[in-house]
Amino acid sequence: MSISNKTVIIATKNRGKSREIKEILKIDGVKYLDLYDLDFNDRIVEYGRSFEENALIKAAAIFDRYRKPVVADDSGLEVEALNGRPGVYSARYAGENATDRDNNELLLEELLNLPDIDRKARFVCVAVFYYDVNKYDVEKGEVEGYITHNPVGDQGFGYDPIFYLPDLKKTMAELTPEEKNKISHRGKAFRRLKSHIIRYFNER
Ligand code: IMP
Repeated sequence: MSISNKTVIIATKNRGKSREIKEILKIDGVKYLDLYDLDFNDRIVEYGRSFEENALIKAAAIFDRYRKPVVADDSGLEVEALNGRPGVYSARYAGENATDRDNNELLLEELLNLPDIDRKARFVCVAVFYYDVNKYDVEKGEVEGYITHNPVGDQGFGYDPIFYLPDLKKTMAELTPEEKNKISHRGKAFRRLKSHIIRYFNER
């Protein structure tokens, strides 16, 4: 795989996610490669205590390997009644090998009998553009909602079926990918990050 001058690496192996990010970050002359394209198979341990720390750990590890600008993100769900949990543990809330379903079931169980008003939650995404050792831009995106009492909808992934958007009167899992991109934490964070990438290449 040749890496040209205007290449940015997307620090994910998840093709669905990298497709979404490429679409948002489309810039004339800039080529994006993800970790799947690069056949990168090492495990990066995300030991950070915040989304920002984890996004930076991923970005720095990939930059170190390829010496090319990197975009990386870390995201998760924060539930008010659980003091912000699952937070950075969102992917493995019900255990190391937990499925989305296991995580959703555990969360619903923990909130059992809590009235709607006390089920406030938010999705958070922190996206970074890391272009040299310790040189980076950070942007954050959030979307507010409520945890339902049961899963609804079959689109999306993760906690989408139990995340209710009061303005749209739908769960996140009832939105098409385009609808989700417009309002999602990830969509917001990456749209904000785009101007930093444009500026970086304009200054070269
Ligand atoms: P990561 O940022 O890909 O590491 O995602 C962390 C975890 O947060 C995922 O495995 C999901 O459980 C949860 N999560 C992040 N973004 C979303 C989303 O858009 N919908 C549902 N769950 C999400």
